Amino acid sequence: MLQTLRLKAGPPARVLFGHPWAFLGEIITNGPLPKSGECVELLDLKGQSLGSGIWSSQSQIAWRRYSHRLVSLDGPLLDELIVAAIRRRNNKPLCRLVWSEADNLPGLVVDRYNDLLSVQALTFGIDQRLPQIIDCLKRELQPREIVLRNDASVRKLEGLDNSITTASGNPLEPCWMKVGDIEVRVDLMGGQKTGMYLDQIEQHARIAQLAKGCRVLDTFCNQGGFGLACAKAGALSVLGLDSSEDAIQAARMAAERNQLNATFEVANVFDWFGANREVTFDLIILDPPPFARSKESVDGAMRGYKELNLRALRLLSPKGILATYSCSHRISDEMYFDVVESAARDARRQAILLDRVSQPSDHPILLNFPESRYLKGFILEVRS
Ligand code: SAH
Repeated sequence: MLQTLRLKAGPPARVLFGHPWAFLGEIITNGPLPKSGECVELLDLKGQSLGSGIWSSQSQIAWRRYSHRLVSLDGPLLDELIVAAIRRRNNKPLCRLVWSEADNLPGLVVDRYNDLLSVQALTFGIDQRLPQIIDCLKRELQPREIVLRNDASVRKLEGLDNSITTASGNPLEPCWMKVGDIEVRVDLMGGQKTGMYLDQIEQHARIAQLAKGCRVLDTFCNQGGFGLACAKAGALSVLGLDSSEDAIQAARMAAERNQLNATFEVANVFDWFGANREVTFDLIILDPPPFARSKESVDGAMRGYKELNLRALRLLSPKGILATYSCSHRISDEMYFDVVESAARDARRQAILLDRVSQPSDHPILLNFPESRYLKGFILEVRS
């Protein structure tokens, strides 16, 4: 039997409208409380069930739903959910296999890099269940290695320590892997996030189709995914910029290994735009990190995005192309479109929207969970 807790009277909680989280302040807590990681049924004010969730005693997000039914995660359900998530990805060799709430496994991220897996446990309840999760992944996929990327800062909110280890206990060396038609250096123990940015791989190929003969500027390039794909597709020149020395190093190594003509520089993109006002490009990619990590940072983020788009639009040749992305879930598609429009206005550039894009299907959007709807992009062609 699961322990049952009840929402308290107060402003309507988002969990009543389909959201998978309940906050500590929304729940009656005057009885004995569950331990972190325990499975708990949550009831609304009328006593109707809102489903089963994992309890976290450290975080303000006290309850995260994994099922609408009354069921423990510790029976067959955990394996069933992992297997269902894997099946949904249709054997894609490079993809996010499990994505947290969107796969009913709040706090579990599993990324697949061919025969390697990279796992993140972001909640106490998932961290506690890692042995069973690893067994299930081994059984289903027989990976060469599983890296446990338990270095995300949100773990602190759950009272968890940070570490990067492997399931075998042996260190895993970086290796080369084919991504599209380019060999990429994959460093699952040292690269950003779970190794690299899987969510933009489809966009690399999409933008490369526009790159033939272009002078390309790839800002916030990380390991150069966009720039390298553009060089391979016949760009005239490619300049990639990122503030991370390790990422730039990996991009340079990949350019050399693939014999591609692309230059990568360590730079703060804002400073670089400030110092380079006279150069011209035919294709500019803007793919910054999430500027709006909290509610309070939204205004500052909007100003940052505006500045970047304005600068980029000013450097584009007539008929130049801007591919501009935001991965902040707090900035909606419409908000980001407004930013781009106002930047075009200020830059006195006319542009048409060639395409509007979103996150790939291996990062599925969960309805009524706006946190899962994060990536948006606009591909524009300047007209004058
Ligand atoms: N375009 C990449 C993903 C970019 S993620 C791809 O498709 O794979 C955002 C990147 O921005 C990270 O690599 C981070 O190191 C870099 N970054 C963050 N702040 C920066 C800044 N002010 N100037 C330059 N790079 C920055």
